[in-house]
Amino acid sequence: MSLVKRPSPAAQWYLPGILAGMWFTLKKMIYNIFNQKKMVTLNYPEEKYEYSPRFKGNHVLTVKKDGSIRCTACMLCATNCPAQCIKITAAEHDDPTVEKYPIAYEIDVLRCVYCGFCEEACPVDAIRMGPEWQTAGLAGSKFTYDIQQLAYRPQLKGGVQSVLDDQERHKKGI
Ligand code: SF4
Ligand code: SF4
Repeated sequence: MSLVKRPSPAAQWYLPGILAGMWFTLKKMIYNIFNQKKMVTLNYPEEKYEYSPRFKGNHVLTVKKDGSIRCTACMLCATNCPAQCIKITAAEHDDPTVEKYPIAYEIDVLRCVYCGFCEEACPVDAIRMGPEWQTAGLAGSKFTYDIQQLAYRPQLKGGVQSVLDDQERHKKGI
């Protein structure tokens, strides 16, 4: 004996369901046009959601006072990254007081889970998660952020300087 009930002949017609769905959508659209303040959705991109200042968005590599990159290529961020999406190539620095620096620093943001472990692991405040969250793009290659993108993209207006420099100067009484 079959337990599957055959649908009634009337239920085999899709048209009533489609018309009911279209009527519901039309009703909601007209309601929203006249009650825009009560809408639960935003008119993106004209309106944007305001995230908390603690929001962990796109990465930023901070810079020193002279504008050079702050990262010392210690690899702690890459070691702690659970998605293994940070790739750093270290090089010797011309300045004998600086041990090394990253000649290449790349983050594959398509693999990144935005956990913030890299930011937490960095001992010199060289990487931060900023408030930017709009990461749309067409080509996959656009999602591998290099030093230029991480430290000097136009939105950062010349780079984000770490407050650690000021704290060190304050400690030395300069
Ligand atoms: S936010 Fe997390 S997943 Fe993304 S680069 Fe940093 S440590 Fe890796
Ligand atoms: S960003 Fe920070 S943790 Fe990562 S390599 Fe540079 S100095 Fe080390």
